[in-house]
Amino acid sequence: MAELSSDPERERRAASRSCGPCSLCCTVLRVDELGKGAGRDCVHQRGERGCGIHDTRPPICRAYRCLWLQGGLADDERPDATGGIVDLEAVGIGLRLGIRESRRGAFDDSPVLQGIAERYRSEMPIRISDAEDVTNPDRPFRVLLAGGLEHRLAGDRIEIHRGGILIERKRLPWAERLGRLLSIWWRNRKLQ
Ligand code: SF4
Ligand code: SF4
Repeated sequence: MAELSSDPERERRAASRSCGPCSLCCTVLRVDELGKGAGRDCVHQRGERGCGIHDTRPPICRAYRCLWLQGGLADDERPDATGGIVDLEAVGIGLRLGIRESRRGAFDDSPVLQGIAERYRSEMPIRISDAEDVTNPDRPFRVLLAGGLEHRLAGDRIEIHRGGILIERKRLPWAERLGRLLSIWWRNRKLQ
């Protein structure tokens, strides 16, 4: 997760925010220290009362701040209202916007998430996935790009759409596919 650059208005919003009744990241994210897989409720979630082990929660829970909590999104774009958590992610020397759905299809059902994606799309790629994506190499995910381009990936296949129309279908380069398989194998191994 990348931190936002300095912006007084964003910093003002961030200072006034707390998670409140939202605990979506506790479901969507994996927590290796607890052996909790992505997309599964944490056994310590206590609904609107927050975390049941707040004072001793793992470091990743203490460190995680979604883009809304960092002040990067509007007040009414808190994840529990949109159905997905949104992060700025460092990729090489650039950034992308990561949208992780709480359930498959949440992005298509959420005009708010779609609005967020449109705001950022001309500046950086938007990667849309669901929680299972991090443990299943064949799980489909999408990348929205500027100019109406969209890449839909599943396993070693990629479909390229423009303006919602399929314009090309091909296999991913083997090195890319192998890299993804290895990284998922490593994540799953850490969870065992
Ligand atoms: S998704 Fe964001 S607002 Fe919701 S609990 Fe996590 S950090 Fe807080
Ligand atoms: S330990 Fe607490 S903060 Fe961490 S995932 Fe579980 S409920 Fe959320």
